[in-house]
Amino acid sequence: MTDASAPTAAGATALGATATGEPMMRATGLTVTYGTVEAVRGIDIEIFDGETVALLGANGAGKSSTLRALSRLVKATGTIQFDGRDIIKAQPDAVARAGLIHVPEGRHLFASLTTEENLQVGMTAKGKRDPIFQIDDIYDLFPALTALRKRSAWALSGGEQQMVAIGRGLLSAPRLLLLDEPSLGLAPVIVTAVYGALAQIKHRTAVLVVEQNASLALGLVDRAYVLAVGEIAMAGLSSELTDREALLASYLARETDADDDAVAPSG
Ligand code: ATP
Repeated sequence: MTDASAPTAAGATALGATATGEPMMRATGLTVTYGTVEAVRGIDIEIFDGETVALLGANGAGKSSTLRALSRLVKATGTIQFDGRDIIKAQPDAVARAGLIHVPEGRHLFASLTTEENLQVGMTAKGKRDPIFQIDDIYDLFPALTALRKRSAWALSGGEQQMVAIGRGLLSAPRLLLLDEPSLGLAPVIVTAVYGALAQIKHRTAVLVVEQNASLALGLVDRAYVLAVGEIAMAGLSSELTDREALLASYLARETDADDDAVAPSG
């Protein structure tokens, strides 16, 4: 099995740090506003072909809003270029057909469909791109799903649902796979399985992964952006960010505060 915690610095320099030419995806001045709340404040993000990049940050930093803006699930201002096309006003289904595939937090499977049927749904967004993964590849990536092919999604555990959601995204032949908190709420053994699979997946498609668990994500990705209150506070190769752990932790501190609140004795 692939070691998900192995450093990937060698892969990092192959793309993000030294890449020349145009990025596959470039967002500039990206801003997301909900009523009076400015969740994302004019950020710039770019992803080169084949890169694996993390978007880190505390609760409420604007990570999910950024992903939703890129896949056009929420309105945004600024620019988003994807494969040379301006998609800031595109519909979500058109963006998915172009290969920008979003695996949302909460998985959003079809509850009454089986594992296999949910996976097949992914193929409908493949457009004219050649497949990157076949259904059997998904069972190789996530062997736990093999015995669950015919089980309805509502009867799957959270971890199994996460595996199906990622598999469904892969069967859409993503050019860029957007993953929102793939480790959220999962037992450590399942997180290891999911991140082990991601360590293989990243060699076949570009990935932008949102994570609160910075050390987990930095073990996987080439580069990362750190969001704080809707703005990019830090960015760099994962090795550089790992070296600046104390500074990184300061931007994730609100997450710790929230956790402290959650476990504070009530009386
Ligand atoms: P988390 O890790 O907790 O999901 P996040 O970094 O993904 O956080 P977002 O979910 O993007 O952050 O939220 C950023 C800000 O926007 C927060 O203040 C949040 O309360 C607010 N927000 C998000 N969605 C909405 C919405 N639909 N309506 C109003 N405010 C929203």
